[in-house]
Parts: sequence; C-alpha cells; structure tokens
Amino acid sequence: MSAAAYDVAIVGAGIAGASAAYFLAPHARVAILEREAQPGYHSTGRSAALYSQTYGNASVRSLTRASRAFYDEPSAGFAAQPLLAPRGVVFFGRAEQRAALEAQADELRATGGRIEWLAPQDLRLRVPALRPAWAAVGLHEPDAEDIDVHALLSGFLHGARAAGATLTTNAELEAADHENGRWRLTTPAGEIHADILVNAAGAWADDVARMAGAAPLGLAPLRRTAVVFECKRFTDTARWPTAVDATEDLYFRPEAGRMLASPADETPSPPCDAQPEELDVATLIERLQQATTFDIARITARWAGLRTFAPDRTLVAGFDPARKAFFWLAGQGGYGIQSAPAMGQLVAALIRNNPLPPALIDEGVDPASVDPRRFSQPAP
Ligand SMILES: Cc1cc2nc3c(=O)[nH]c(=O)nc-3n(C[C@H](O)[C@H](O)[C@H](O)COP(=O)(O)OP(=O)(O)OC[C@H]3O[C@@H](n4cnc5c(N)ncnc54)[C@H](O)[C@@H]3O)c2cc1C
Repeated sequence: MSAAAYDVAIVGAGIAGASAAYFLAPHARVAILEREAQPGYHSTGRSAALYSQTYGNASVRSLTRASRAFYDEPSAGFAAQPLLAPRGVVFFGRAEQRAALEAQADELRATGGRIEWLAPQDLRLRVPALRPAWAAVGLHEPDAEDIDVHALLSGFLHGARAAGATLTTNAELEAADHENGRWRLTTPAGEIHADILVNAAGAWADDVARMAGAAPLGLAPLRRTAVVFECKRFTDTARWPTAVDATEDLYFRPEAGRMLASPADETPSPPCDAQPEELDVATLIERLQQATTFDIARITARWAGLRTFAPDRTLVAGFDPARKAFFWLAGQGGYGIQSAPAMGQLVAALIRNNPLPPALIDEGVDPASVDPRRFSQPAP
C-alpha cells in the first residue's frame, strides 16, 4: 500500500502548527504530525495566556496587533465563547524604581499602546495585595487581555480538520528524507509523503531541522516556572489586573478564584518536558512575600514550560535558504499565543506564494523581519 500524500506536512500541534494548519487547510492537503498523545502538551498548554500589544520587539508587536481582528471576530463557530477577556496590566515598583518605570513608560508609549500613570492609592485599589513600599510607583496598560488558549487551539485544530486536514498524535517524526522532489516522513504511526515540510516543533525545531538536513538556527529554549496558589486573605480577586514588578522578575494574576504567579525565569534548557525546579518555586515565593501580603495557603499547581527564542528574539517563518521545501515556523518565544492568528495567515500566504492579507500589511507585518535567511546573510 502506498503512503498517504499531502501538499503540506506540519510537525507539531502546538499553537504554531495548529494556526498554520487552520489557514492552509482550505487550500491544500494538510497533515499534522504530533509526537505527544495530546496537542498543546508542551509550551502551548503552559502559558500565562496574556495578550499585550506592547510586548516584544516591533516585529512581534505588529503580529500581535494584526491578530486582534481574529481574536475579536473569529469565523462563525470557531469558539463557543469570546477568545479574549479584559484584564489589563499594572507595572509596580518601589520609590527608587521610578526612573526605571519612567523609561519603561516611554518605551511602552512608543509602541502606540495606551499607558497611564497610577497614583499609589489607585495602584493598591487595583491590587490590594501590594505592600505600600512596593506600590510607590505604578503604570497601567488597560488594553491587555487574557486569552482563552484552550479555545484558540481547539478552534484552530477543529477548523483545520473540518477543512480536510488530518491530525495524527503519537506520531513523532523520526526521519525526513527529501527524495524525487518530495518528503518521505517516517513516524511510529506510519509513513507519509508531502511536498512541503513545516517545522513547527517548538523547542525541538533545531532537532527537526537537523533530521531533515537543514542547518539549525541556534534556537534557545528557556525554562519559565509558574504556580497557582490559594490565598485566603483576598477572595474577591477576579477583576484584578495582571501585576508585573518594575524589574520584570515577578508577575501574578487571578486564575479562577486563585492566583497564578511566575518568577519570570529564563533558564537555558535542552528541549524536554520541562518540570519546575524547587529553587525557582522558592525564589517565586520569596519575591511574592517581599512585594505582597498574600498568605499562600496552598500551592495547587506548579509547572514549567519552554519559551524558545531565535538569537534576535524575533519569530521565524519562511523557507530555509538551503534545504528545499523546508519551511521554518519557530522561535515563538514568549509571544507565540498572542501572535498566532496573524502568524498562521502569514505562513499560509508565504507557502501559497500569495500576497499578504491587507490587514497584516496595515499593521506593519513584514515577512522580511521573520525570514530565516536573516541568519545566513554574511555580516556587512
Ligand atoms: C510559563 C509561560 C508563560 C507564557 N506566557 C505567554 C503569554 O502570556 N502570551 C503568549 O503569547 N505566549 C506565552 N508563552 C509562550 C507560548 O506558550 C509559546 O510561544 C507557544 O506556546 C509556542 O508554541 P509552539 O507551537 O511553537 O510550541 P509547542 O506548544 O511546544 O508545540 C510544539 C509541538 O511540537 C511537537 N514536536 C516536537 N518535535 C516533534 C517531532 N519530532 N515529531 C512530532 N511532533 C514534535 C511537540 O510535542 C509540541 O507539541 C508562555 C510560555 C510559558 C512557558
């Protein structure tokens, strides 16, 4: 029996692979191969779910802005509930951190984002757990939102399958050979053929590249830790914003009656099923105790995930300059969820050799900024 043949095979059913599949499937025969039993098991299922148009560099921000229309109005039946929910972000600091926050305010304003100064009493009204000394200066970004990551991932995968894409789980790509103008892809679930191979393997994207005979880009997976805790002192937290300290080494936000918090760590890691380290959890608790009056009654969940960055901390999407029919979709770093709708549209346009949708151009999305060829050009 001959192996099934596809136009595009996507390795990885995280948010990157799922969004690409969603926008490609109406136009091409698409197969998604996922190593785990569940899509979204790695970074996608472990995020803090924040949508902020001021986060990341100019290339990231343009993709995030260009994603907004999809978040606000996905196609009919995509999700049963809204994909975004109002949250807001406050940045808080001690008196001696005023200069740092002023510099941050200038930077955030330069992105076009709405930023307001908060008086200490307003800051503590919004986040009553802050100790007065840590609420001396505050900034408010009112337009940041929470993303329903589960609904977004399910919507992409459901929509892709409804348009004819196949999703095979427990299907780790074990070999990728380009023969007679197409890929022969070997997995424990069987072999398939495809014209184009999309590498959306997250922390493993450099490994998949090596397997397919492409040069790795030097992607760096960085571990980040998060916990959810119960706190008896503050019960009415649902409307609190996400709170981020001025040096960005602590953030916390409400999570279904509890609090989610992270020490915003970035520890280099090999690609793996990342697990939280005791030391990082202890560091987080210490920082929370310094800055807040939370009484941490019980930690109900703890996890770690990998945020995988390209050397310039900009996402990567485009054909490999040397390996034919090998397409990179990697380096989503800390922005892969918020930017996914626009990134999926960009990938579909590049693979189909179509012009970018005007809505992406209007927000300044520039395929050159994410093109993997930027890493192979000789230095001037
Ligand atoms: C603690 C934390 C907080 C975060 N907060 C935010 C946030 O607030 N907002 C935001 O936008 N982003 C956030 N992120 C980042 C976001 O989660 C990532 O950018 C995004 O999930 C990356 O998606 P991905 O599809 O590239 O990777 P993944 O979700 O890791 O998917 C890659 C998939 O490829 C599969 N795979 C790998 N190798 C193979 C192979 N050989 N064969 C088959 N399958 C393979 C893996 O099993 C995996 O499922 C956060 C991340 C962390 C860890």
